[in-house]
Amino acid sequence: MCNSCDTGLGFDPETLPEADMAEAARAAHAAGEAWHFHVLAPDCAFNPNKEKYTFLLELTAQKRNICTVFDERPTGVNKELLALLHGEAALSEKAPGADELSAEESELLDTISKVADLDKRWHHHMMFPACGLNTSDGKWRLFVELEGEETRHLDSDSEPSALLNRIERIYFGMA
Ligand SMILES: [Zn+2]
Ligand SMILES: [Zn+2]
Repeated sequence: MCNSCDTGLGFDPETLPEADMAEAARAAHAAGEAWHFHVLAPDCAFNPNKEKYTFLLELTAQKRNICTVFDERPTGVNKELLALLHGEAALSEKAPGADELSAEESELLDTISKVADLDKRWHHHMMFPACGLNTSDGKWRLFVELEGEETRHLDSDSEPSALLNRIERIYFGMA
């Protein structure tokens, strides 16, 4: 039991070092099991460690949750596991107009861009349908926390890959 990782959401996560957490994600991926992760920023509504970054790995097929606590934003493992989870193209630059965004998606992306341009804090969560943080009824939920703005979310029937790609590129300073 990890006292520092009591999210209050019914999780009972294990705390592991980064290398072991990442290896557990790679093993789940290699076995074709359902898994995903979240980076919980210091000001994230879901983060039990308010001064830190909490990397939360949900091994949904194994009914296991693992967390690793970081002092700094964990960019390396985030990018590595993002490519495993969403494909190598998750962060690649798309040709203009390659993927059409819905009006709602464009509006959310514009909001994020404006907040990012002002150097305000923001982050997002891609919540899979089986995600323990996801309170929708079986939808894919993109959940966005923006400094000085209302929390936003957008629910979809399928993975919103095009929107996620745009958001991740802003998040990693690639766009
Ligand atoms: Zn958050
Ligand atoms: Zn989740």
